[in-house]
Amino acid sequence: MVERVASCRRCAAMEGRRRVLSEANGPLDALVLFVAEAPGRLGADRTGIPLSHDRSGRNFERLLVCAGLRRDQVFITNAVLCNPRGPRGCNRPPSSVELSNCATHLRLQLELVTAPVVATLGLTALRALDSLDPHGLTLSEHVAEPIVWHGRILFPLYHPSAQAMLHRPLAVQEQDYRALGELVRSLAAATAATARSAQRRTSSATPAAGISTSESHRMASLS
Ligand code: SF4
Repeated sequence: MVERVASCRRCAAMEGRRRVLSEANGPLDALVLFVAEAPGRLGADRTGIPLSHDRSGRNFERLLVCAGLRRDQVFITNAVLCNPRGPRGCNRPPSSVELSNCATHLRLQLELVTAPVVATLGLTALRALDSLDPHGLTLSEHVAEPIVWHGRILFPLYHPSAQAMLHRPLAVQEQDYRALGELVRSLAAATAATARSAQRRTSSATPAAGISTSESHRMASLS
């Protein structure tokens, strides 16, 4: 998929921009799949690492700490994988055509990344998921409310940009991320308990046998 995206030429305005999808986005067995809007001009378009080295990236790092999560436990992507810029070279929101062009890449990432929780960062990301499988959520009404969606738990969050902080201050966003962390840990505890129960049943049936899945170990490490 990384090679396919690297050679993608669907959006004329993205010529010369980095396609921000690589191992630097995170592990496929992440605990949380974050979907933001688009790579930033001063951040991911330079570094190839989503939400890094710009103000949004620094805010995100701080918020991730509030959730009790590390970067190597999450996968971060965007509704469009290239940095959209306006006529003066500044970041601009992706157009509806660009979002539509990149929707197939987003759908495939959702299939490949097995994270039990999908957290959208901002309205554009929330709408991008709605276009893949309608959820009917609005950011203002459903922020930090977990709902079952597409076989996962969808957790809408505001974007960590300075602009979004005007609508949802950093201190409130920190609470949102703490709630996200609690959700992830409760899912981890439930998964670990299920794995232990299955292991006990298997052990009593065949004493020499044991079960161990990478998923249960990964989640258990958090509980
Ligand atoms: S934004 Fe997405 S669809 Fe458009 S050129 Fe970049 S990778 Fe391709």
